[in-house]
Amino acid sequence: MVRLGIVSPCYNEEGVLSISAGKLANILTDLGEKGKISSDSFVLFVNDGSKDSTWNIIKSLHNEDSRFKGLNLARNVGHQNAIMAGMMTAKDWADVVVTIDADIQDDIYAIEKMIDEYEDGADVVYGIKVSRKADPFLKRMSALAFYNLQKKMGVNCVYNHADFRLMSNRALNMLAEYPEKNLYLRALITNIGLPSATVEDVIVEREAGQSKYTLSKMLNLAVDGITSFSIKPIYLIFYIGLIFLAISIFILGNVIYSKLTGSAISGWASQILSIWFVGGALMVGIATVGIYIGKIYTEVKARPLYHIQEILK
Ligand code: UDP
Ligand code: MG
Repeated sequence: MVRLGIVSPCYNEEGVLSISAGKLANILTDLGEKGKISSDSFVLFVNDGSKDSTWNIIKSLHNEDSRFKGLNLARNVGHQNAIMAGMMTAKDWADVVVTIDADIQDDIYAIEKMIDEYEDGADVVYGIKVSRKADPFLKRMSALAFYNLQKKMGVNCVYNHADFRLMSNRALNMLAEYPEKNLYLRALITNIGLPSATVEDVIVEREAGQSKYTLSKMLNLAVDGITSFSIKPIYLIFYIGLIFLAISIFILGNVIYSKLTGSAISGWASQILSIWFVGGALMVGIATVGIYIGKIYTEVKARPLYHIQEILK
């Protein structure tokens, strides 16, 4: 029988953690009774450097019920790295690992279907958000724009899939072979290319606490996602630069012509305008190259993604 490990990253989740733990325990019990998972299946909470009492709650959950395990990271390393820490720890204990956010906005009943798909041969099962009604309008719109941008940029991603998914031990061991530091898991995992399946995931609202994804964290994820998997932005800037060059040659011709015919001085405004325009374009271009160089820099340093302070096993 499969031993299931549910990995859940937690950052300042004291408000919702007990509620979520209850739901996850019920799922473990339920799936155990149905004979789908073994009795030593577990939930591994990863405390991602929370500033509140999240780790204390995890410790007391572990004391009450040994199916709850905990991983305390030494500092806040972000959602993606926290999931990675959890998966890499749980993979040695479990046959399959399901990752789910600690606020359980995903459909926990989909976990059973994920296990069925695993039994049918899938190494990776993606939870696909079929209804995002619970998400605020802006979040829904920005997510939609982001998925489309990714597609245009050639990032190989599963549409409307975030980080609610099942991975087999085999897939996790392959994931462990990627030494990269700029983690964008959903595209990295598609990159592995083992047999996969999808299940429907109906999103619900957060029961307590606020979203931990600030606007800046969301933007960082978007920029990271694209620059980690696509070099199209560099080409885009390159071609835009070529078009600008062509335009400037045209303007040069116009300037020489007006000088020769004696109709000069006009066009001060358009000059200032173009200085700003070209200046801005250059900055964007240099910044794009900078992002890639920054990535080379972090990869070269090859620092560990996380340090585990304590394990409750
Ligand atoms: N999270 C984390 N580290 C962070 C930020 C978030 O581990 O630096 C966790 C958080 O506790 C939650 C998950 O990532 O389990 C997703 O965050 P949240 O639910 O706030 O994002 P949203 O659902 O609003 O996109
Ligand atoms: Mg959430």
